[in-house]
Amino acid sequence: AKRQLDSHAAFYSKSLKDITMKRIAMEEALRKAIKAREFELFLQPIIDMRSGGIVKAEALIRWRDKSNKLISPDEFIPIAELCGLIIPIGHWVIEQAGNMLKLLHSYNDQLTLSVNLSPKQLNDEHLLDAFTATINKTGIDASKVELEITEGVLIDNFERVERHIRQLRKLGIRISIDDFGTGYSSLRYLQRLSVDTVKIDRSFVHDLSDNENDKAIVLAVIAIAKSLGLEVIAEGVETKAQRHFLMDNACFIAQGYLFGRPVPVDDFCQLLSCE
Ligand code: C2E
Ligand code: CA
Ligand code: CA
Ligand code: CA
Repeated sequence: AKRQLDSHAAFYSKSLKDITMKRIAMEEALRKAIKAREFELFLQPIIDMRSGGIVKAEALIRWRDKSNKLISPDEFIPIAELCGLIIPIGHWVIEQAGNMLKLLHSYNDQLTLSVNLSPKQLNDEHLLDAFTATINKTGIDASKVELEITEGVLIDNFERVERHIRQLRKLGIRISIDDFGTGYSSLRYLQRLSVDTVKIDRSFVHDLSDNENDKAIVLAVIAIAKSLGLEVIAEGVETKAQRHFLMDNACFIAQGYLFGRPVPVDDFCQLLSCE
């Protein structure tokens, strides 16, 4: 039995070592990717289901590595957050987003661009400067920029987050609470923060047709958002049944594969020119 235990211990320490090695390798690769500018922002349309028109776009980062393979943010953003590289990556995203919005506005000057912000970026003292620089350089209208912040950050450090959000809103930037319903934050936070938008997490939208609890959650989020005067966006809409349910319950703004996947900027502009 002793031998078996030893071999187990060896097995676990090896796999832990593997994970650490993998992380270090990824961190090294990320450093190089930042220098070589191997990132791209894809855009996914956000639709007003009443008209079918595109009202916003969400910028979603992709990493195109040396072999031209696209790596999803779920694979590298968590590691970038751990090792601090999310700060330079985030600055790149902000700069790109400014240029991109300028381009999008040459097709439709009413469009809003949504940009994801990591919780770590809310601790970055240069965040505000990065936005001010981009706004000044591109001349974009700050009220057409919306920052998506996951609900979880409200719990960890409310005072600081509140201060940053207040400064960003002073620039005219809109704030959206992403993955709403998953973070267990209290409604008081939401009320005190003066945000503009909440996005219903796609896990709730996904099971709308056969899960009564998810129906109840979606209805509750819509009701909360309306009563606080917030805009509400449904994420991950994939079926006509989901669209039907949302529209029946007065949630008209939505995003999901039913309307369009995230695509490279050129393809997105193609969509806009067909509108
Ligand atoms: P998120 O902000 O919740 O983004 C929505 C995710 O849902 C995206 O995955 C999008 O492609 C996917 N999605 C949209 N519609 C549907 C649908 O109908 N069905 C399904 N199954 N999925 C749908 P993606 O692009 O892989 O991004 C994953 C996460 O990575 C994002 O989740 C966000 O948290 C993070 N992320 C993406 N870009 C950035 C960025 O520029 N900065 C930071 N800090 N995080 C980012
Ligand atoms: Ca998002
Ligand atoms: Ca989300
Ligand atoms: Ca998410």
